[in-house]
This record gives sequence, structure tokens and C-alpha cells, in this order.
Amino acid sequence: MLTRTRGLVTKAVSFGEGDKILTVLSDRYGKIQVMAKGARRAKSKLTAGTQLFCYCDFILFKGKSWYYIDQVEIINTFHKIRNDLVRLCSCTYLVELANEVVQPGQPPGKLLHILLEALNLLAGEEIESETVLRAAEIKILAYAGFKPQLGFCTSCGNTCRSGYFSPVSGGVLCRDCEKTDPYGYNIDIGTIRAMKLMLRWELKKLDCLRLEEHIHKELEKVMRAYVAVHIEKDFSINRFMDSIKKMK
Ligand SMILES: [Zn+2]
Repeated sequence: MLTRTRGLVTKAVSFGEGDKILTVLSDRYGKIQVMAKGARRAKSKLTAGTQLFCYCDFILFKGKSWYYIDQVEIINTFHKIRNDLVRLCSCTYLVELANEVVQPGQPPGKLLHILLEALNLLAGEEIESETVLRAAEIKILAYAGFKPQLGFCTSCGNTCRSGYFSPVSGGVLCRDCEKTDPYGYNIDIGTIRAMKLMLRWELKKLDCLRLEEHIHKELEKVMRAYVAVHIEKDFSINRFMDSIKKMK
């Protein structure tokens, strides 16, 4: 039986002689595995719509192990993200993070919306790519149930206005409690404020958020530590992104 769904290609792996296996975050079925028969062969009708980051209208039929593509129509390829390696790496990281946190069969809810909006913004120049990356990252973590606690101390629950962030505790610690985690980070209160705004505001509204360089650096440092503790996956794309930034 054929079924129709819109979905974003979040992973594309070569398979066999000329096939591809895709991971698609679909609006109807959540994360699914899709076989694209012959997609790597010359003149295949499936080649264009089965690239990483393609957002498509799929007509699929369900087999035993995965879905198979009957037809695919491209809605958006976000092709401009390929013009800049740092933006390309940012998109790669975000889809890898999304793939990691969403389970098969789990409704995509806001996750698909966050990714589409982030890819759209990273394909443009309106908002700094660092801001889009960090904001989408923290929103994906919140979707997955790992929203950092930023207004109240994660240990005693008191209102917290200090800048001590503890990845292990899942958010900020007040001055009295910060000794419970010697591996936390003393950061600018502005960095905490930026995280709160990133959680609250829609991505496209972040164009009015101008962050100083040291805030960007702190956000990167604490969020990487936070992801390492809570997601427990080594995202090698981050090291590649760092090496590209150094060359710039
Ligand atoms: Zn406390």
C-alpha cells in the first residue's frame, strides 16, 4: 500500500551496487529508514531527492525492513548551505544530533520544524550561523527532554542569578551549591541570558540577537560539555568544524 509523507533526509548511506539507505524525519511517521533503489545510478529519477538535507514529498510503500520510494518530489534542497563549509558542518551536526535523540516511531513534533527552520536560516545570511547553530541545538535538546534549567539552582531550587553552569547537574548552580560540582563553568551571566532567549524565541526572531565573541565561545564550550554528558555521543563533525574555523 502506498503512503504519502513529507520528510527531511537526515542521513544518506550508499548500499549495494547503486542503492541508498536514507534516514528520513517524516511528518507522518517520525524517523524512518527508506531504501532508494538505484538512486546512485546515472539517470535515476531518485538521485536529486535523496541527497542529505533534501526536504521532499515522498510516496512510499512499506516493506519488511524499510520503506521503499515510489516517487519523490523535492520541496527544498537548502542548496546554499553547501557554499560555506562552516554552515554545512553546522547543518550536519544538527541532523546528527536530531537522529540521535529521536527514536523510531516517536512523533517528530517540533523537531522537524526546528530542523527545517535552522536549515533555512543557515542557507541564508540574515542571522549569524553560530547563533542559529546554538539556538537550534538547545531547542533540539529541550525537545528530547534535556532542557537545561537556567532560572533556578538545579541543586536547592532557589532563584539563581549567578553564572555557574554545571553540565552534570543539568543547568545552573547558585553560589551556595556550586561546590557540589567542581567541574562546572563560571560564565558570563549574559551567556545564561542568551541560552534563555534561544529557548524562548523562535529561530527566525533571533536576528535581533547580537552576541559578543566571548559569549559565543562560552556557549560553544558549555553546550558541547552539556551534550557530551547527556547525549553520550562523540560528534566528530565538531572537530572538523573547529579545524575549518582555524583555517579561516
Ligand atoms: Zn543552590
